[in-house]
Amino acid sequence: MPDRIEKLCAEKGMRMTEQRRVIARVLSEAHDHPDVEELHRRAHAVDPHISIATVYRTVRLFEEGGIISRLDFRDGRSRYEEHTKVHHDHLIDTRTGNVVEFVDDEIEALQEAIARRLGYRLVDHRMELYGVPLEET
Ligand SMILES: [Zn+2]
Ligand SMILES: [Zn+2]
Repeated sequence: MPDRIEKLCAEKGMRMTEQRRVIARVLSEAHDHPDVEELHRRAHAVDPHISIATVYRTVRLFEEGGIISRLDFRDGRSRYEEHTKVHHDHLIDTRTGNVVEFVDDEIEALQEAIARRLGYRLVDHRMELYGVPLEET
């Protein structure tokens, strides 16, 4: 049973090797925002022949194909998640690195309004909030 990412790759005519399939599956199952090293750890647990270089190449390929998104949470590591149709933004806990996903209709509308005011139709945006837990400040 092919997973979502595998199916998208097939639709885009990507050649799927067994190793790419494993990496696709690991990405589909990830509910966090893993970096390449973490992806390698997970893929390696399934197939010990998968090298970190293969993971790098594969995520770049998937990213170029618009199948996954690369995220930068300012810790010097690129993170990846499935490019979902459901838009969301991120709040990053700067102490633990924990990532919270959220959507706020008011902010979404406000961003469109700002773009419009500046003479643009908004086609995409990214928002990251960085914070520490209230009870710890
Ligand atoms: Zn947003
Ligand atoms: Zn996310």
